Amino acid sequence: MAELASFDHDVLVIGAGGAGLRAAIEAAAQGASVGLVCKSLLGKAHTVMAEGGVAAALANVDDRDNWQVHFADTMRGGQYLNNWRMAELHAREAPDRVRELEAWGALFDRTGDGRILQRNFGGHRYPRLAHVGDRTGLEMIRTLQDHGIHQGIDVHMEVTVVQLFVREGRAAAALAYDRERGRFRLFRAKAIVLATGGIGRAYRITSNSWEYAGDGQSLAYHAGAALQDMEFVQFHPTGMIWPPSVRGLLVTEAVRGEGGILLNNQGRRFMFDDIPENYRAQTADTPEEGWRYVQGDKNARRPPELLTRDHVARCIMREVRAGRGSPHGGVLLDISWIKEKIPHAREHIKKKLPSMYHQFKQLADIDITTTPMEIGPTTHYVMGGVRVDGDSQMSTLPGLFAAGEAAAGLHGANRLGGNSLSDLLVFGKRAGEYAARYAKEHAAVTPDEGEVNEATREALVPFERSAGENPYAVQHALQDLMQDLVGIVRREDEMLRAVDQLGELRARAARVGVSGNREFNPGWHTALDLKHLLTVSEAIVTSALARRESRGGHFRDDYPEKSAEFATLNFVVEKGQSGAMALRPVSLPGMPGELKAIVEANK
Ligand SMILES: Cc1cc2nc3c(=O)[nH]c(=O)nc-3n(C[C@H](O)[C@H](O)[C@H](O)COP(=O)(O)OP(=O)(O)OC[C@H]3O[C@@H](n4cnc5c(N)ncnc54)[C@H](O)[C@@H]3O)c2cc1C
Repeated sequence: MAELASFDHDVLVIGAGGAGLRAAIEAAAQGASVGLVCKSLLGKAHTVMAEGGVAAALANVDDRDNWQVHFADTMRGGQYLNNWRMAELHAREAPDRVRELEAWGALFDRTGDGRILQRNFGGHRYPRLAHVGDRTGLEMIRTLQDHGIHQGIDVHMEVTVVQLFVREGRAAAALAYDRERGRFRLFRAKAIVLATGGIGRAYRITSNSWEYAGDGQSLAYHAGAALQDMEFVQFHPTGMIWPPSVRGLLVTEAVRGEGGILLNNQGRRFMFDDIPENYRAQTADTPEEGWRYVQGDKNARRPPELLTRDHVARCIMREVRAGRGSPHGGVLLDISWIKEKIPHAREHIKKKLPSMYHQFKQLADIDITTTPMEIGPTTHYVMGGVRVDGDSQMSTLPGLFAAGEAAAGLHGANRLGGNSLSDLLVFGKRAGEYAARYAKEHAAVTPDEGEVNEATREALVPFERSAGENPYAVQHALQDLMQDLVGIVRREDEMLRAVDQLGELRARAARVGVSGNREFNPGWHTALDLKHLLTVSEAIVTSALARRESRGGHFRDDYPEKSAEFATLNFVVEKGQSGAMALRPVSLPGMPGELKAIVEANK
């Protein structure tokens, strides 16, 4: 351990997206010394890609909105499997977190009278998403970064954590390598916050960037913390499908929020054909009513294109499977049609959806102001993650906290658009606050030297097998397997095949070899990512097999209905005594009467 560069912090935050930055800011504000580690350059996290907006019941556009309606919408969207305490805190605190961001310098789009403008999004009863065109994440991360650099946070960029260490039953340290030089670093901390984002790279078609290999979920799991709800993966209904090089790239829901409609190859607006019973009362009866809604008519109900993502994705799959899809296997998303309704539609679309305009123009040579887009579902988000306490965000391993997409609970079986950016702000702050408090109350513990040495040795093993398996081949095989056997539509026989094949891939991963040296070596980085990808994939398929029903993001062809048996159960996976993954169902605690009444009143 002597040759290892080591760093000591009260609080170590792993991940510099919205959740990590907000946690680091808060921990520093509480007086803790804070280290912030991220895989890429500061500012490049996933959060920067967020487009549509941040959900908060500010009631700037519709004064009927309030935290109670936001809470009820989030619970309904999550099919009541949400951690209701988190859903309550989120709805109550999101407005203050957004206003705080504004006070720190974020420039949101404005209403006519100068307040933060809010737009419609799927599953939100009223216009609720504060936004900056379709580049909200960029503004959010810029603001948090600008604010964060004044807090005295030590930032370690282009550094990847590979393992956590536990001592005296507490999280004690993290081992990492710097990507540029391939040298190891040890971070000792009294409290650690995981804010590492999602798992999208476990699938072939995804809107996620290379950074999202499930590191945080896997690091927590191997350190002994529990994961929850891993079967709930969100397949966003609208990803680009053509040309093949950009397949999966997100087409923001804001397109539908601004009036975009979904059509099959017969020109039919198929979303009107299937409206779930629990949303019927809130959904427009006619296209004309839907259009009035997106124009802000308070007496109109939302168009079916703005139903929840899980439902819209399945409707699209149904059209494709029935042979009514677009030429490249998706359906059509049309915003250009609004020229029938408003003057200057072209300028309006370019103003409200500038990134989408450029994305399609540059990547697909399509002008979205005149031509429909071809879209299809793409792996986008994971509702599951590290199981945490709703108030403090501490995991089941003392001293280890998790926030943002890496954590589970808030979104239940399905996340509403816009509820992630607000999640990052609300629970990033809480994780930072409670981690700092934990660090104050606990002395530092030193990780076991032998364990650290063993971890560094293990990380270098691929260099000893220059003729071993190609790590990219194993990664691609895993992505194909998850896409084809544990994707949007799941069946027991296919998932059992996935379990077998994951076993084979684990054996192959143990044989991967890399050539070259440790200086920026993407093959080596990929070899190290495999452990995380395999771990989260196993957690997803284990939980998906156990949930013998269809709910939210989890659709079983062999159990297409919701089942009362699973209505109040979360599935939790942990490392068992034998070292194998163990699954257990955990009943949700009953909701307090006050919250139940809010849900009922908003049905
Ligand atoms: C294209 C796109 C558009 C979206 N639009 C919206 C939207 O409009 N509204 C909304 O609410 N949500 C949106 N989302 C979802 C939302 O952006 C993400 O869920 C959210 O940004 C995740 O933030 P986070 O802070 O949890 O993690 P991220 O922003 O994903 O950051 C993770 C951080 O962890 C670091 N990291 C990961 N592993 C390691 C490791 N092993 N060691 C060190 N560092 C590590 C990464 O480098 C990064 O800094 C969108 C997502 C995408 C992909």
